[in-house]
Amino acid sequence: MPRHYNFSAGPAALPQPVIEQMRDELLDWNDQGASVMEISHRSEPLLALLKTVEADFRELLGIPDNYRVLFLPGGATAQFSMLPLNLLGDKSSVDYVNGGYWSQKAITEAERYCDVNVVTSLITEQPFHVAPVSEWKLNPDSAYLHYTSNETIEGVQFNNIPDVEIPLVSDFSSEILSREIDVSRFGLIYACAQKNFGIAGITLVIVREDLIHQPSPLLPSIFRYGLQSEKGSLVNTPPTFPIYVTGLVLKWLLGLGGITAIEAVNRRKAEKLYEFIDSDDFYCNPVAPEWRSMMNAVFKLADDSLTADFITQAKAVGLINLKGHRSVGGIRISMYNALPESAIDQLIEFMADFKQSRG
Ligand code: PMP
Repeated sequence: MPRHYNFSAGPAALPQPVIEQMRDELLDWNDQGASVMEISHRSEPLLALLKTVEADFRELLGIPDNYRVLFLPGGATAQFSMLPLNLLGDKSSVDYVNGGYWSQKAITEAERYCDVNVVTSLITEQPFHVAPVSEWKLNPDSAYLHYTSNETIEGVQFNNIPDVEIPLVSDFSSEILSREIDVSRFGLIYACAQKNFGIAGITLVIVREDLIHQPSPLLPSIFRYGLQSEKGSLVNTPPTFPIYVTGLVLKWLLGLGGITAIEAVNRRKAEKLYEFIDSDDFYCNPVAPEWRSMMNAVFKLADDSLTADFITQAKAVGLINLKGHRSVGGIRISMYNALPESAIDQLIEFMADFKQSRG
């Protein structure tokens, strides 16, 4: 059976060459006579792999030397708790932008530990947008300001990094490595692996050294940024296979020409798709153009009763995982780095045919 074009929001499609290399190396990795899953995480080749993965992230993202790079357990969701538990220091409040579903999750977790000041919320009268920073109710005494750079479910993305005085913390789960970012503008960036750089199991945390405070003695070891940093992310046995897959994805990306090269492709994919959606009112996207996500495009069919048929017909021509998140319905097209431009071309062709036959 051929592989389909997979528009899944996550776990998401991996680059084809990466899957092929995994297949080829499955029985014997790196002349070990065993797979990468069957050797010690403290063995020489595994430690070398971890070093390479960190170095490749540093190169791709231009991470300054005063930032630590950690690979942590618990998905992006664990970070929702680790942030306040590690970064609060002697402060008692944190600022959050409530930009959508994932911001709300982060807020709910942070509320267990401290006062959460919601500085602004996504405006959901159409077109969806976020108010300018000058209108946010910022608290200069908060430990940090958190925002979700790309809201995977609503398809809303920040074009610009907010300019604020306190350390900026951002969830980059659904956009990391898709476009250039200036890491030095942030106190901390985190992202789960299973959308843009691998498979579920590790979470990338990039944290500025001076923000790592001594946390409460009650905080478990694996959730301490300081300890994880000291131990090279090896406080316990790390998920070695996800780290290996990440290594392959990063080499693939470097081989393509890094972020500049992939960003150009990503921009083309998103522009084409939005242009087609906007070409008439058969399909409609609720987000203001400057807030539209380059990674997750959401839209509804003007006649919602056609949605299920749209998904079924798409699947029949090899376009899979188009269904919008259960909380919002409609269609969601996730187009992370590994989704080739030809997938978007074929999708647009399908959408045009579907419109013609049902419109
Ligand atoms: N943040 C964002 C923006 C996400 O899209 C997701 C997952 N879809 C998460 C956090 C949660 O990630 P995880 O399931 O790895 O905890």
